[in-house]
Amino acid sequence: MECVFCEIAAGNIPGDIVYQDETIVAFRDISPAAPTHILIIPRKHITSLNNLPETDMPLIGHIISIASKLAVEAGISEKGYRLVFNCGEEGGQVVSHLHLHLLGGRKLSDALG
Ligand code: AMP
Ligand code: ZN
Repeated sequence: MECVFCEIAAGNIPGDIVYQDETIVAFRDISPAAPTHILIIPRKHITSLNNLPETDMPLIGHIISIASKLAVEAGISEKGYRLVFNCGEEGGQVVSHLHLHLLGGRKLSDALG
């Protein structure tokens, strides 16, 4: 089954990539919800936090660490930003490849859903 984020990570479909290394890729969201809206994904296809093997937990730390660096690079770290993992249908997850949203550049809503 094809996965759009695997295809972006493999370079088979275009993505506005802002960071990549051996294990993760970060690219701009195609439909940004804020002036800065970046998605950070593992290269490995993991569908969601529900299916994250314990042995892959260090990937999450790496993803968050890179998100905080990208926030500095985007100039939003001081004013603030939000990191979001949507998980499953009721959590608002649409793309079934684990991803972290980095959102910032405006005052975000106080609502958590
Ligand atoms: P989620 O609702 O957490 O699954 O978020 C999926 C996100 O992926 C949404 O914000 C979409 O706008 C974004 N998205 C979907 N397809 C692409 C794509 N080809 N390139 C970049 N972002 C995408
Ligand atoms: Zn995938």
